[in-house]
Amino acid sequence: MELYELTLHELKDLLKKKEVSSKEVVKSFFSRIKKIDNKVKAFVTLCEEEALEKACECDQQQEYDGIAGIPYGLKDIICTRGVKTTCCSKILENFIPPYDATVARKLKEKKGILAGKLNMDEFAMGSSTENSAFFPTRNPWDLERVPGGSSGGSAAAVAAGEVPFALGTDTGGSIRQPASFCGVVGLKPTYGRVSRWGVVAFASSLDQVGVFSRDVRDCALVMNIVSGHDPMDSTSVDIEVPDYESFLTGNIKGLKVAYPREYFQQGVDEKIRETVKKALHKFEDLGAVVEEVTLPHSEYALPAYYLIAPAEASANLARYDGVRYGFRDFEADNVVQMFSKTRAAGFGDEVKRRIMLGTYALSSGYYDAYYLKALKVRRLISRDFNEVFKDFDVIVGPTTPTTAFKLGEQSDPLQLYMNDILTVPINMAGLPGISIPCGFVEGLPVGMQIIGRPFDEGTLLQAAYSYEQNTDYHTVKPVLGVE
Ligand code: GLN
Repeated sequence: MELYELTLHELKDLLKKKEVSSKEVVKSFFSRIKKIDNKVKAFVTLCEEEALEKACECDQQQEYDGIAGIPYGLKDIICTRGVKTTCCSKILENFIPPYDATVARKLKEKKGILAGKLNMDEFAMGSSTENSAFFPTRNPWDLERVPGGSSGGSAAAVAAGEVPFALGTDTGGSIRQPASFCGVVGLKPTYGRVSRWGVVAFASSLDQVGVFSRDVRDCALVMNIVSGHDPMDSTSVDIEVPDYESFLTGNIKGLKVAYPREYFQQGVDEKIRETVKKALHKFEDLGAVVEEVTLPHSEYALPAYYLIAPAEASANLARYDGVRYGFRDFEADNVVQMFSKTRAAGFGDEVKRRIMLGTYALSSGYYDAYYLKALKVRRLISRDFNEVFKDFDVIVGPTTPTTAFKLGEQSDPLQLYMNDILTVPINMAGLPGISIPCGFVEGLPVGMQIIGRPFDEGTLLQAAYSYEQNTDYHTVKPVLGVE
């Protein structure tokens, strides 16, 4: 067994017992990256030299606890002081932030070691990582397939053993969908649980930072570090953060599990439905009470999301004008032309599509018909969930309607948007959701989504951990043919 194959908690224990050094750990991951990342293409920036320096510092101090001395990756939307943060857009190609995002700072303070920045769909818009301005990332389970998106680099890196854990962001599914496609654990916390300060904004009322890991315990460990109120983010909520590891009891007797009828209908691949139904039986075997429920407004979530998210994006992305950040068109004769030429050359097609859609939905005369209507739908979706959570502790369903598709296969934007049909409602309601591996269809991983009450990530982790401990899907690793 090589060090790069171990989980965060296994590495932590070895370091603590002084059986390995941080330098050995970091070296093992970098040699893995060198061996396979020309195939997977998860990283857009590597920080090898700094990482080795940090590892030596850790080894000198000999204080190993939590993530100390252990490498990780960050989606390239999370600002890192002195390290390029591009959002995988041409417009930010050379942007080097002068500060760390709160989440990046927290990991640094715990002496975790940044291995590098991970590929994503430009400005987190997409479901396949094909919208990256640089190159697409590949799915470690089948290099002809996409890893999902927008945090595809984060999911692929964790699945391929390039880092033990990574952070991503999720606005409509961008953590859970790639986690599902790549067979790893992906948690989107409650809106307000984790600080967004220093994370480049896509749709501010939906964006949330979360964790990718190889098992549920690792997810809990990282959540313990990144969660909590941040005075720099007015939408982060000032309530106590429990010790998430304490929820990993392995006991879910009497837990009330709902499965929504709407999440098991046509449009969701039959084999995926069967796989998740099997998982529901497992929950029953473990002593949970499982019942069908209805979330009647589910079908309106996607259209409402594709008005709200672009509307917010059109406002957030107005700041990229060639004056303040990154790329600028120097050929223009005057300032107005400079703005428009910079944006025309700096943004990719999908980003432009969203800016146009959002600007239209917010324009006077259309605001009431589109944006306001979408906000009302959002409220109805929230209400559906509130009703179910009166009687149930968690809601379980598939994470995605299909398994990972081939690169180039979903070239129609509307087809690509359908990927989010089961994840978007959770963002609309601000709830926490986790995707964990629950089986395979034709050799490709299937993810099960567990949704919880606001700020009840603990119960999600409890349910996920019980399931994980009684199955072995999370232990199966992709074979990349270079071993
Ligand atoms: N795929 C969705 C979109 O394109 C969600 C993206 C996300 O969660 N960042 O908007």
